[in-house]
Amino acid sequence: MIIESIPFLDNPCVRGFLAAFEQATESVVITAPHEDVGGERFLYANQAFLRRSGYSEAELRGKSPRILQGEKTNRAVLNSVAEALAREECFIGQNTNYRKDGGEYIVRWYIAPLRDEANRVAAWFSLQREVPPQPNLREEALFLSTALNQTADSVIVTDLKGDIVFVNSAFTQMTGYSGDEVLGKNARILQSGKQSRSFYADLWHSLLAGHTFRETFINRHKDGHLFFEEATISPVFDHHGEPLYYVAIGKDITELMEKSQSYAQKAYHDALTGLYNRLKFDEVMARKLAGPWPPPRPYSLVVMDIDNFKLINDEYGHGVGDEVLKALAGLLLSKLRHNDLLVRWGGEEFVLLVDNDATKTARLAEKLREAIAGYRFDPRFAVTVSMGVSEVREGDDPDSLFKRADEMVYRSKREGKNRVSVG
Ligand code: GH3
Ligand code: MG
Ligand code: MG
Repeated sequence: MIIESIPFLDNPCVRGFLAAFEQATESVVITAPHEDVGGERFLYANQAFLRRSGYSEAELRGKSPRILQGEKTNRAVLNSVAEALAREECFIGQNTNYRKDGGEYIVRWYIAPLRDEANRVAAWFSLQREVPPQPNLREEALFLSTALNQTADSVIVTDLKGDIVFVNSAFTQMTGYSGDEVLGKNARILQSGKQSRSFYADLWHSLLAGHTFRETFINRHKDGHLFFEEATISPVFDHHGEPLYYVAIGKDITELMEKSQSYAQKAYHDALTGLYNRLKFDEVMARKLAGPWPPPRPYSLVVMDIDNFKLINDEYGHGVGDEVLKALAGLLLSKLRHNDLLVRWGGEEFVLLVDNDATKTARLAEKLREAIAGYRFDPRFAVTVSMGVSEVREGDDPDSLFKRADEMVYRSKREGKNRVSVG
C-alpha cells in the first residue's frame, strides 16, 4: 500500500515491484530519508507489514518507523542503523519491534538505499524478516543446559544485577542449593563475609569493563560451612557488544587447598615431634635480619642439646629415644609463649628463638632446664639438657648467631652438662 506517493515511486517499474511485494510473506517498508522535508516517514508498507504490525495504512501516514520501538528495542542497534544510513550504506541487523497492540516481535532488517537518477538517496528500502524466537532459543537453551549439567564445573548465569537466572547440577552439588532455591536470588547469597569489600569491588570493576575476573572465592555452603571456589566470571555479550549476562564457572578447590596446606605443614615441620624445622627457622631469621639495625626488639637464640642421649638409645632402644624427643618437645612448648619459635634443629638438638635480650632469655632457659631435669620422662633414667644463649649483634647472620649460641652449649657440656651458658 502506498502511504505517501513521492515522484520516485511514481513510475511504472517501481509500481510493478510494489504490486509484487503485496503478495510477499515478509514485511517490506519504504521510508523517506530523514533529511527529507517531512522527515523520515512511511512511504510504502506491504500487506505483510500491515498484518504483522497491526497498523492500518491510515495510521502509518506521516509516522516514522519509530512507532515500532519500545522498551526492549536495542538503542545500540538503532545507533548503528542511524550511522549506516548517514553513510548511505546498507544495514543488516536485528531488533525488537512492537505491534500496535503492544506485542513484541524480533525482526531482522535488511535496509538499503534507493537512489534516483541523480544518484541521491530518494528513499530507504527495508525488508523485515520476523525472527521466530521461541522454538530456536528454547531448543538452544535446552541443548546448552543439558550440556552444562554434564560438566563437573559449577555454572551460574546471572543477569547484569547479579540475579541468578541459571545454575547447573554441579552448582547444586558444590553449594547445596537447588536451582529452585536460588533462581531470582542475587549471587551474593554465596558470600561468606570472609573476603574484603575491595575483592568484590575489583570483581565488579573487571566485569563492568567487559573483562573476565578469575579468583579464588571463599563461599558459604547452604549448610553453613565455608569452601574455596576457583572461579572465572565473564560477561556474555550480544551481537552488538552489549553485555547480557555474567557467567561464572568454578570448581571447589577446598580439598586441594587443604592438601597444599598439609604440604606446607610437612615442609615446615619436623615429622617426629611436630615442631618447626630449620627451613622455618631460616625464613623467620631472614625476615628478622632483613630490617635495619637495630631491630625493634632484641632477640636471642637458645641452643639445646640433650645430655648423653646416645646412652638412652643404646640402653633402652631407639623407640624410647624417640619418645623422649617427643615428650621433651611437648614439655618445652607447654612452657613457651606464642611468639617463641621452637625448632627441632636435628637429632637431639633444639633451637629456641625468643624476642628478648640475653639476660631475660637466659632466665627463661634456666627455667626450662630445671623443668626438664625435674620431669620424669621414664622411671629408669633422667633427662637433662645443656643450653647456650646468645643475643643477636650488629652484622650477625643466622649462622654467626647460631655458632655463638652453639659454642655456649659446648661450654655447658665442658662444665659438667645440665646447665645454661650465655655468651
Ligand atoms: P652429649 O651429652 O655430649 O650431647 O652426648 P650425646 O650422646 O647426646 O651426643 P651424641 O651427639 O654423640 O649423640 C646424639 C645421639 O642422638 C646419636 C643419635 O643416635 C641420637 N639421635 C639423633 N637423632 C635421633 C632420633 O631421631 N631418634 C633417636 N632415638 N635418637 C636420635
Ligand atoms: Mg648432639
Ligand atoms: Mg647430646
